[in-house]
Amino acid sequence: MNTTNSNCITCNAHQVKDDTREWEITPDGRVWPCCFFANAWDKRRNNNDNETKRLMEDKVIWNLLQTDPEWNSLNTHELDDIVNHKVFWTHIWYTGWESDNPPPICLKECSNNKAQLNIKKHNNRGGENGLETREYVR
Ligand code: SF4
Repeated sequence: MNTTNSNCITCNAHQVKDDTREWEITPDGRVWPCCFFANAWDKRRNNNDNETKRLMEDKVIWNLLQTDPEWNSLNTHELDDIVNHKVFWTHIWYTGWESDNPPPICLKECSNNKAQLNIKKHNNRGGENGLETREYVR
């Protein structure tokens, strides 16, 4: 599998050698692709947290939380069903990382020393603008 892309994102939660993937579960029973996403979710009530800000600026995840608020909750879904959710195999996966709109968290955290360049690119697309949407997140 090609692990380099135009956004220079290399996922720390995907072991290319044996093609395995790690998952992170927050105390409220939500499954995330890694600790960066889990931390962002855990800190969602902290108005100044940049990790959460990036999660809320992720339009794909944000729309998912609006249309299906329990999409990654083990309280309502089986683990297998959650980890097979298409968002984990499109948006937060190589097709998403190579796209024009990769997850902001991935751009910041796993972009091979290109973080500032990528954040600038993200800002130019309208990211990092505000947290007015956070009040709708449970
Ligand atoms: S932030 Fe994205 S690229 Fe980095 S480990 Fe998490 S899912 Fe993988």
